[in-house]
Amino acid sequence: MMKDLKNTDISIPKEALNVLETLKNAHFEAYFVGGCVRDVLLGRTPKDWDITTNATPEQIMVVFPDTFYENKFGTVGVKNKEAKVDTGTTIDETLRVIEVTPYRKEGTYSDFRHPDTVSFTDKLEDDLARRDFTINAMAMDGEGDIVDIYKGQEDLAQGVIRTVGKPEDRFQEDALRILRAIRIATELGFTINSDTQKALENSASLLKNISRERIRDEFTKIIMSDKPLSGMVLAQKLGILDYISPVFRETFGIEQGGAHSYDVWEHILRSLQHAADKKWPLDIRLAALFHDIAKPQTRRKGLKKWTFYGHEVVGERVTRETLQGLKYPKDLTEKVSKLVRWHMFFTDTETITLSAVRRLVVNVGKENVWDLMNLRICDRVGTGRPKEEPYRLRKYQSMIEEAMRDPVTVGMLKIDGNTLIKEIGIPAGPKIGFILHALLEDVLDDPSLNTEEYLKNKAKNIAELPIEELKKLAEQGKEKQAIEDEKELKVIRDRHSVR
Ligand code: ATP
Ligand code: MG
Repeated sequence: MMKDLKNTDISIPKEALNVLETLKNAHFEAYFVGGCVRDVLLGRTPKDWDITTNATPEQIMVVFPDTFYENKFGTVGVKNKEAKVDTGTTIDETLRVIEVTPYRKEGTYSDFRHPDTVSFTDKLEDDLARRDFTINAMAMDGEGDIVDIYKGQEDLAQGVIRTVGKPEDRFQEDALRILRAIRIATELGFTINSDTQKALENSASLLKNISRERIRDEFTKIIMSDKPLSGMVLAQKLGILDYISPVFRETFGIEQGGAHSYDVWEHILRSLQHAADKKWPLDIRLAALFHDIAKPQTRRKGLKKWTFYGHEVVGERVTRETLQGLKYPKDLTEKVSKLVRWHMFFTDTETITLSAVRRLVVNVGKENVWDLMNLRICDRVGTGRPKEEPYRLRKYQSMIEEAMRDPVTVGMLKIDGNTLIKEIGIPAGPKIGFILHALLEDVLDDPSLNTEEYLKNKAKNIAELPIEELKKLAEQGKEKQAIEDEKELKVIRDRHSVR
């Protein structure tokens, strides 16, 4: 069962508690540690339940039936087959594997990221001392009692990120902590203690030593937080932004004029923030952040105002290069780049025609059209203009549906011209088209007639008619087709309350 903790609403899931208690029953010490303790105390649901113990990896593996050695500094993954959330049948990902790590001490660091040596220790204090921030350096037993050597609870209460030990040393050891500080501050809405912040600013250039993948992971967490705008501004203020990507700084102070109240930097951040406010996924958030990234290099002085012709074309390239550089997966990179490429489409309001929307659907892909619409909403809100006129938004939505719907055509029929020629022996020529349209009328009157058998029979019969007769039947079919098509469009338009 779940265990209720003293001061919070979060309870420890039984799967995690079992692992802890199994270790204790085998006479080892065992504690929850790090991020999960922090999150429990904050009343947030932890992303993972890490355990630390005085058992060695070998001893841990003996105690549990199903483990695997993760080969990263002694951590053993304990698999939880039964891990199910109480109500459903789905396995809660955070409980599938519980990571158990022996108390560890780290030696010196010479690559700004990994300790040169790692040794196990039998003291919990040593393990807490190697952790990055005071709020991440607490341990908790199964009763909810906290071991807090560095006043992590005080910092939690004040909302402060502070390194364990001397900040210069800690960032020097592992430069990833610089980005973790910003990411965790952003996720939790915390401030960074001033000494920690000073050291962080002074150490920024050490981020050069950190792999792009690790930087990407922290950047993604900043973007996926509730307040990515603050996170990006913080990264900028502390001189970290360039190490994520140097492309952002180009947008600082680039005035746009016209309908825009903000420079490009503030505009893309506000667009991003709107995507976060809507809880939209990573691809849309990245597209919102990157959509105007090439405005600086395409800006020209027009007659009355600035112009940015082609910024979406250059922007597509810059976006792709930047996301590739950050080692994002190819499909995500392509999707975001595409959204950037076509983001101008819905701004050209007066001239949008249904056939233009059809072309767009081909260009951006059926599966991405609605995301493009959402990007447009971010763009609009990020401009500081009032929300889209509701009618216009509905009109766009209706047009997209109209463009994507399968129109009423002879293509709907269960047989085609080829069948008529090859199986029924009607010679190729205008007759074929007439017959198909005549058949379409029947099917539109009664959709249940759309079977191969019925259509073939009917085709055989009417094929005997004089061509003039057939032509008349076809005309009726076409009329019916136009009426039915219009009806379908009307259904869509009515649903969106547009004309
Ligand atoms: P999240 O909520 O994203 O899981 P977290 O703080 O739990 O955040 P993890 O990567 O899960 O981050 O790390 C678990 C714990 O390990 C941290 O809380 C911290 O105590 C310690 N830790 C992680 N990375 C570092 C690091 N680079 N330097 C020192 N300690 C670290
Ligand atoms: Mg964690």
